[in-house]
Amino acid sequence: MKTVTFPNGTIVPALGMGTWNMGDSDSRRADEIKSIHAGLEAGIRVVDTAEMYGSGRSEKLVGEAIRGRRDDVFLVSKVLPSNASRKGVRRACEASLKRLGTEYLDLYLLHWEGSEPLEETIAGFDDLVEADLIRSWGVSNFDTDGMREVERITATTPCAANQVLYSLDYRGAEFDLLARDHEAGIVTMAYSPLGQGGDLLRAPVLARVAARHKTTLGPASPAQIALAWVLRQENVLAIPKAGSPKHQHENFAATEITLTRDDLAEIDAAIAPPRRKEPLAMI
Ligand code: NDP
Repeated sequence: MKTVTFPNGTIVPALGMGTWNMGDSDSRRADEIKSIHAGLEAGIRVVDTAEMYGSGRSEKLVGEAIRGRRDDVFLVSKVLPSNASRKGVRRACEASLKRLGTEYLDLYLLHWEGSEPLEETIAGFDDLVEADLIRSWGVSNFDTDGMREVERITATTPCAANQVLYSLDYRGAEFDLLARDHEAGIVTMAYSPLGQGGDLLRAPVLARVAARHKTTLGPASPAQIALAWVLRQENVLAIPKAGSPKHQHENFAATEITLTRDDLAEIDAAIAPPRRKEPLAMI
């Protein structure tokens, strides 16, 4: 399976799992936990959550799902910009750790840039690394200008990841951000890679390309093509959210698909790549 490498040398599979909206509904809870278990059993390592998701409900559900399996997980959470002062980062992280029932995060991200000076937030992240509460830190929704600012700030440990919107619906990051982050050794985490399960999955081009591929589960689906397309990029980690074991297995099987040159040309003809710099979109 394709992998990504973080600046501290940690290597994980390039397919992870998102958990936004998980834990919000009692009737879906059992399936969501089974879905995370199915992902871990298949070999997925990265589980992405945030203090913002359901005001902590996602973190609580993830905590329940990974109980007794912590060593199998590369756990990612995010601090809200409103909590991102040097002291606020510590408080927010401790609250996240409590909800997650763990002693450390593998990666802690600033969810998006707010009004706290970045120096403060990054100093807070450095404190957390020093205190063994996190193993690495990064940012989310940062475009090229923001990344330049991050790199100008002296930190004890380097920025490990930038989590951004990247899918066939939103190709903007492809213009320069992906390559820039890759050259800097920063992992790009692609969020909403399935276009949030919306119109993208009904795009005729995805159905046409899917008809030419199969996986061990059977004929490929448009969702699997959308994921394989994101995963074709170097050092990009896709974090689709799957609310059921069925979707989780399908997403895992997408890692078997290699898109051909013809597939990629057909996709480009239907959904054009960016021809100029566009501001980074975010959800
Ligand atoms: P995704 O693009 O991952 O889409 C999720 C939707 O796709 C759900 O409706 C899901 O349905 C459906 N789906 C999943 N697998 C399949 C499949 N194999 N076939 C058909 N449909 C499928 O959207 P998200 O917005 O959830 O993004 C993923 C993750 O990225 C989030 O969960 C979150 O962790 C992170 N994120 C980060 C942001 C940031 O600002 N840093 C912003 C947004 C997201 P079902 O639930 O029924 O499986």
